[in-house]
Amino acid sequence: MTIYNFSAGPAVLPKAVLEIAQSEMLDYKNSGMSVMELSHRSSLFEEIIQAAESLLRELMAIPDNYKVLFLQGGASLQFSMVPLNLAQGKKALYVSTGSWSKKAISAAKALDNVEVEVIASSEDKNFTYIPELPETVDQNAAYVHITTNNTIEGTAFAKIPNFGKVPVVADMSSNILANDYKVEDFGVIYAGAQKNIGPAGLTVVIIREDLLNQEAVFAPMLDYALQAKNDSLYNTPPTYAIYIAKLVFEWVKAQGGVAGITEKDQQKAQLLYDTIEKSKLFTSPVRKDSRSITNIPFVTGDDALDKAFNQAALAEGFENLKGHRSVGGMRASLYNAFPTEGVEALVAFMAKFEKENG
Ligand code: PMP
Repeated sequence: MTIYNFSAGPAVLPKAVLEIAQSEMLDYKNSGMSVMELSHRSSLFEEIIQAAESLLRELMAIPDNYKVLFLQGGASLQFSMVPLNLAQGKKALYVSTGSWSKKAISAAKALDNVEVEVIASSEDKNFTYIPELPETVDQNAAYVHITTNNTIEGTAFAKIPNFGKVPVVADMSSNILANDYKVEDFGVIYAGAQKNIGPAGLTVVIIREDLLNQEAVFAPMLDYALQAKNDSLYNTPPTYAIYIAKLVFEWVKAQGGVAGITEKDQQKAQLLYDTIEKSKLFTSPVRKDSRSITNIPFVTGDDALDKAFNQAALAEGFENLKGHRSVGGMRASLYNAFPTEGVEALVAFMAKFEKENG
């Protein structure tokens, strides 16, 4: 049976990438060692990390005045690192669009000398839309934080706001390399790798150089400037995850880059949204103009039927379709590596289920 993995993360990786990793597992480039066994100071690993960075720069057209950092601690550590580095003694503005932005807000609030203000929220309707943002914000604020794609709720920012000299900081964990956002529109972008980049354990941070703090942050590992000065090698980085990320970046490039991938992602999402729109059984809880092409929740409106669907889907090899416990129903995460055939199989299965249960 073919298994289709709809997991929200860690998520499906390109099979071609896993095959290369398999072929290089025991002996990387005649070194007699696995990548896992290479010193992070070796020339072979230096080639890997430098290639990973230059490929990401090429794929996202990252301008020269931005640093690329390969860190650890997940996107969740960035919830604290961003305010620690950018907002000490200042005001930090947040847009609240879901569970993950709420966690980012709580982490910033936990710091004594950061003043947090939520400038827009969609919590009134269970985060089922992207809220209207104010045209202008306090120009003395350190940044405005947004979550470009809300993994749990299935919403995404179609347009990145501009607040003059106040930089936009984005948690792009679930749609990095899936939307052709312009890096120039952001001061900081961060993303946990385990969706569109590679294995868990790696966090990518892209930061405009003028935002690197001039004063040292109290803990060296949490200091962007120090990490940048050491080219992400201040300590031992997650070497194997960086190696897989490099292979994924090569794969994205071979798919026509981010533009090619986005086009394919849009087609996959359209197939599922069209099915939901036509269905008399399934509905999308998300307002049309706010829909994510990456994480697509859908419900029947009847918990017992949702449960029956999820059980029947599992038996057919559709793994991890169960919706997040806060939303219920189903959620299909269609990351870059998720194959079109998997969406075709899912919509055929949905039609069959509707016929039998509608
Ligand atoms: N932000 C978003 C948008 C996410 O989807 C996730 C993880 N699913 C996180 C943050 C937290 O990431 P991590 O587990 O890497 O800390």
